[in-house]
Amino acid sequence: MRIFILLLLFPFVASASCFDDLQSMGWRVKAVQSPSGFCSINEAVRLYATDTTTFHPSVLLSCSTAKDVGMWAKYISAKRVDNVGGYVCRKQRSSIFPSQHSFGKAIDVTAIDGVPISKDWHSAYKAGCKFFNTVLTPMHDSLHHDHLHMDNGYGYSCLFDIVR
Ligand SMILES: [Zn+2]
Repeated sequence: MRIFILLLLFPFVASASCFDDLQSMGWRVKAVQSPSGFCSINEAVRLYATDTTTFHPSVLLSCSTAKDVGMWAKYISAKRVDNVGGYVCRKQRSSIFPSQHSFGKAIDVTAIDGVPISKDWHSAYKAGCKFFNTVLTPMHDSLHHDHLHMDNGYGYSCLFDIVR
């Protein structure tokens, strides 16, 4: 009941289950108000660090995506993940459809422990497909030459995993 009242008072606070989950694992996260309008985020959180990995800069994501990103970073034993953004309200650069970034459901990773994705991305990609259904690598197209795009939207690139 108390949680219910809390949610009524602070409707923007991420749901008790997901946000509390991340906090209870010792992750540095902050519940934030979702942007309004078409590009809104379900349970918006700012992810600063997990118990093992810091994110540079901190990244705005949906809580469930923050969890996937953090679990992926832990899985590959990354201490530092550099990224160029989670939430961005925009269309996919190669189509008319909204990007998963528009809903805080995607992240673009540029470096892991100081090593640029353009130099080394295979193992991060393989691990990414354990947590996401779409992982686009520098092999995908020139738009992704310097980062790994990961999301759990409607894509399914990991199903057709042809990367060795
Ligand atoms: Zn992206």
